[in-house]
This record gives sequence, structure tokens and C-alpha cells, in this order.
Amino acid sequence: MVNSKHLTGRTAIVTGATRGIGRAIALKLAQEGSNIAFNYLSNKKLADSLVDEIKNYGVKVLAFKVDVRDFDKVQKMKDKILDKLGALDILINNAGITKDVPLAMMSPDNWDSVIDSNLKGTFNVTRSFIFTFIKQKFGNIINISSLSGIMGIAGQANYSASKGGIISFTKSLAKEVASYNIRVNAIAPGFIETDMVSNLDQKKILDLIPLNRLGKPEEVAEVVNFLLKKDSAYITGQVIRIDGGLGM
Ligand code: NAP
Repeated sequence: MVNSKHLTGRTAIVTGATRGIGRAIALKLAQEGSNIAFNYLSNKKLADSLVDEIKNYGVKVLAFKVDVRDFDKVQKMKDKILDKLGALDILINNAGITKDVPLAMMSPDNWDSVIDSNLKGTFNVTRSFIFTFIKQKFGNIINISSLSGIMGIAGQANYSASKGGIISFTKSLAKEVASYNIRVNAIAPGFIETDMVSNLDQKKILDLIPLNRLGKPEEVAEVVNFLLKKDSAYITGQVIRIDGGLGM
């Protein structure tokens, strides 16, 4: 019988996988047969439950309580992943935070924490694994940006800048490593049903979205899955929107 799981034998790291979009991505890739390493900031209980769920798919799993802002710890995490799982093929830079506030009231800490988590975190993890990908002449990197990084959203100058930075980073890196058979793409979700948007005024948001609903984390995970398939082998350096038409 032909094995229909297209990621069997692959290993992926998903950053910020304990909740929301990252969790849906980690589960989808495990379902497709990939071994999974993931990290998170603080929520060990959720990390333990994710480990259990991933194990149900019969793949290997490693969890790390590692802050993506800390380059040294990210490097150590990389060494452990390569040591214990023997390889890394796929990197999903998903960990991210918001600290929304109008610029006139934005503290340097509001700015730094968002830029450090979202943009520098993406650099830290990618920088740690890029040499592995270059050496093996294979890699697939997907960075979770945001519609906010394309259009800008009032009250999110820090977040928009971090997510716009991720888009430029994606395009530069895609050009830099294409000759090593490494693809780099970004996904720009609109409003997705996770903790991150739970404090927003749903009624106001829905009025702006042509499809008149929030997206589901699993729908973002499906786009990630497509970008990991051979069917998408000719796509690199792109930003794929998944936003219910919000950004049209
Ligand atoms: P979420 O539900 O708030 O989950 C965030 C995840 O990131 C958690 O697992 C959290 O770990 C982890 N995390 C945060 N800071 C971290 C750090 N410094 N180091 C390691 N892990 C860290 O967020 P989400 O809505 O799923 O968003 C996931 C990604 O999609 C983010 O990059 C976000 O900007 C982007 N996005 C989301 C939306 C949306 O509407 N939800 C739209 C566009 C883009 P703990 O559980 O330990 O805190």
C-alpha cells in the first residue's frame, strides 16, 4: 500500500506551538507523518498535552521551554534537536505576540518586546538552523507574518513593523538560499480565532471581513501543509494571504 502521508521521515520545528495557530500546524504536520520539535514561552501544561496529542500520530516529539528572543538558548535547542531527532527539514516561525497601543502612548518596552519576539525571534531561530539546511541542500521555511504587516493596522505600529520585517526577511532569504534547494515563504493571516484576538471587538471585525467570519487555526495549517508539499515546489519568496478577503 502506498504511504499517503507526505511528510513521513521529515522533521519539523514549530515555534510557539502550545496554542492557536502553532498548535494546529504542529498537529497537522504530525498527522502528515513528520517528527515534531516545538517550543513555547511558559505554558508547560499545554506543552505536555500537545506532546501527548502528537504521540498519537506515531511520530517522535520534543518540547522545549525556550524563549525565541534568547539566541544562545535557541542554539542549544537546535543542538538537542539535531542530536535527538537526527535531522531538521522544516522550520515554521510562528511564535509571536501583540502589545497594541497607539504610538503616542507606546513605551520603548512595548516596542522592543514585540520586535524582539516576532522579528528577532524569527532571525534567531532561522539563523540557528540555516547552516543545517545549506549543508544538506534542502529546507523549507515558512514564516507566519500577518495582514497587519502588509496593510498596517492602527494601534499596531510595533506589530505591523515586526510582521512587515518578516516579509522583507522572507524575500531576502528566499533569494539568498534558493540555489541550495531551500524555499522560504510567508503566510499573512487576517483575523484567526485564537487567544490573540479574543479581546478584540468581534462585531466590528466581522463587518470588515467579506467572508463574515474569523479564520480557524486549522485553515492556516492547511496552507502551511500545501507549502510543504511537492505540488508547491516552484513557490518561494511569496506571501500567501489567508484573510477571508479582508485585505482585498
Ligand atoms: P497565541 O494563541 O497567542 O499563541 C502564541 C504562541 O506563541 C504560544 O504558544 C506562546 O507560548 C508562544 N510564544 C509567544 N512568545 C514566545 C516566545 N518569546 N518564545 C517562544 N514562544 C513564544 O497566538 P496565535 O494567534 O496562534 O498566533 C500565532 C502567530 O500567528 C503569531 O506570530 C501571530 O502574530 C500570527 N498571527 C495571528 C493572527 C490571529 O488572528 N490570531 C493573525 C495574523 C498573524 P505560551 O503558550 O507559552 O505563551
